[in-house]
Amino acid sequence: MTVYNFSAGPAVLPRTVLEKAQSELLDYRNSGMSVMELSHRSSLFEEIIQEAENLLRELMAIPENYQVLFLQGGASLQFSTIPLNLARHKKALYVNTGSWSQKAIEAAQQIADVTVDVIASSEDKQFSYIPDIDPSSIDQDAAYLHITTNNTIEGTAFQTIPNAGTVPVVADMSSNILANDYQVEDFGLIYAGAQKNIGPAGLTVVIIRDDLLNDEAIFAPMLDYRLQAKNDSLYNTPPTYAIYIAKLVFEWLQELGGVKEILAQDRQKAALLYQAIEKSTLFSSPVAEDSRSVTNIPFVTGDKELDRLFNEQAVKAGFENLKGHRSVGGMRASLYNAFPIEGVQALVDFMQAFEAEVK
Ligand SMILES: *Cc1c(COP(=O)(O)O)cnc(C)c1O
Repeated sequence: MTVYNFSAGPAVLPRTVLEKAQSELLDYRNSGMSVMELSHRSSLFEEIIQEAENLLRELMAIPENYQVLFLQGGASLQFSTIPLNLARHKKALYVNTGSWSQKAIEAAQQIADVTVDVIASSEDKQFSYIPDIDPSSIDQDAAYLHITTNNTIEGTAFQTIPNAGTVPVVADMSSNILANDYQVEDFGLIYAGAQKNIGPAGLTVVIIRDDLLNDEAIFAPMLDYRLQAKNDSLYNTPPTYAIYIAKLVFEWLQELGGVKEILAQDRQKAALLYQAIEKSTLFSSPVAEDSRSVTNIPFVTGDKELDRLFNEQAVKAGFENLKGHRSVGGMRASLYNAFPIEGVQALVDFMQAFEAEVK
C-alpha cells in the first residue's frame, strides 16, 4: 500500500534525498565515516555547512547583509531568543494569528524588561483569517513587529508582508519557508524550525539582518545572535546530521528549479484540494478564502462523528497524519514542498468516495 504522509511536522522528505543519505550513510565521500561521525570542525563537515548556507542564500536570494544561522532549540526557543536579543528595554509588537503566535507572545511577555503590544488579532473568529494591520498602530520606536507568516494549525498565511516603516518585521516562517514569494529584504529576521519544509527536527534556521545583531552580550551565550554569527554557527556542536540532510534538500530544490518552481507546484497541489472542498457538499474549509495557506489545509465535515470516521478510514487507506490539530479538530492536509501531487489526487478521490458512501 502506498503511504502518503500529511504530517504537519516532522514531515515528508523527498525520497531522492533519503536515498542519497542512505547511499552515503556508512561512508561519506570515501572518508570511511558517516556524516554522523564527523567532527564538526572537520573540513568535510565545514564544506557541508558552508554549502548548506550557500544554497539557502541562493534559493531565498538572501542579501549579503544578512547572516544565516543554524541553531537548535526549535522555533519555540526563538520565541524567547528574539525578544532577549532585540527588545530589551523596548516595546515589541505582535500580530496574533493563532496558536504559534500566541506562544511567541507569551514567551516575550515572560521577559521582564520587554513590553509586548499585540496590535492585531484574528482571535474573534477562531483565527480563520489574517487581520488587517493599521499602519498607524505601528509605533516607529518599537524593536520589531512579529508575525507568523503561515499558521500551521489554523491554515492561514500572510499573502503580503505588512509594511512596518522602519520597524523590522520578524517572521516565524516555520511552515512556509521556501514555499512563498516573500522577499527577504522585507524582513529584519526570519526563523524556522527545519522539520516542516527543510529537513529533520533539531535544526532551526535564523536569517538576521546585520544591524539587528545585538551589540551587547546576552547573558546566555547560546542565545546570543552576535556570538553565534561570529562563530559561523559553530560556537558549540551544531546538529550536524540535520544540517547535512537540509543541504541535500536544498540541492534537491535547486535541481527542481528553485522556489519559484516549487511554489507553482505547491499552488497546484493546494488548488486541487481546495477545489475538491469547494465542490463537496460534505467537506468545507474553515478558512477565509483570501487568507488560505498553500502548505496547511484544514477541512471539516461539521460533524465530529463523521470526522472521526473519515480519519479512521483514511489511515486504513494509507493516508497518514490527516487528523486535525487537537485544538481545531477535523482534518488537516499538510502539503509541504516534498509532498507529491499524486498524494493530493489520491486524497481527493478518497474524499469523493467517502462522501458518496455517507450521503
Ligand atoms: C511547528 C511550528 C513551531 C514550533 O516549532 P518547534 O521547532 O517545534 O519549536 C512554531 N511556529 C510555527 C509556525 C510552527 O509551524
